[in-house]
Amino acid sequence: MEEKTVFEKIIDREIPADIVYEDDKCIVIKDINPKARVHLLVIPKKKIPTLFDLTPEDKDLMGHMMLLLPQLAQAHNLDGFKTLINTGKSGGQEVFHLHIHLMGN
Ligand code: 5GP
Repeated sequence: MEEKTVFEKIIDREIPADIVYEDDKCIVIKDINPKARVHLLVIPKKKIPTLFDLTPEDKDLMGHMMLLLPQLAQAHNLDGFKTLINTGKSGGQEVFHLHIHLMGN
């Protein structure tokens, strides 16, 4: 069996994380190495390594995560924010479990 990524271990509560939101489809944690005052990672519970691995059945899930972003920003008193999805090794991706960075100051 393939080795779990760090995010799967967090989802499965095998390693700790600062979890700020969770529902049946995704989990949101604070980045361990924040690049902004607020730096969150929105992570689907479904095991999807990169954007290249999305299928049409993931449309609802991706929409769900996009709609969460402004809600999370408002909950953290941000009136603006940046989002980032690193994709593939050459795209700067380090953890091969899809995630959306949300950053704001
Ligand atoms: P990537 O380059 O794959 O888009 O970014 C992975 C992000 O995950 C990095 O910003 C890194 O700081 C964060 N990260 C890596 N390991 C952990 C961890 O164990 N816990 C948390 N909370 N964040 C992590």
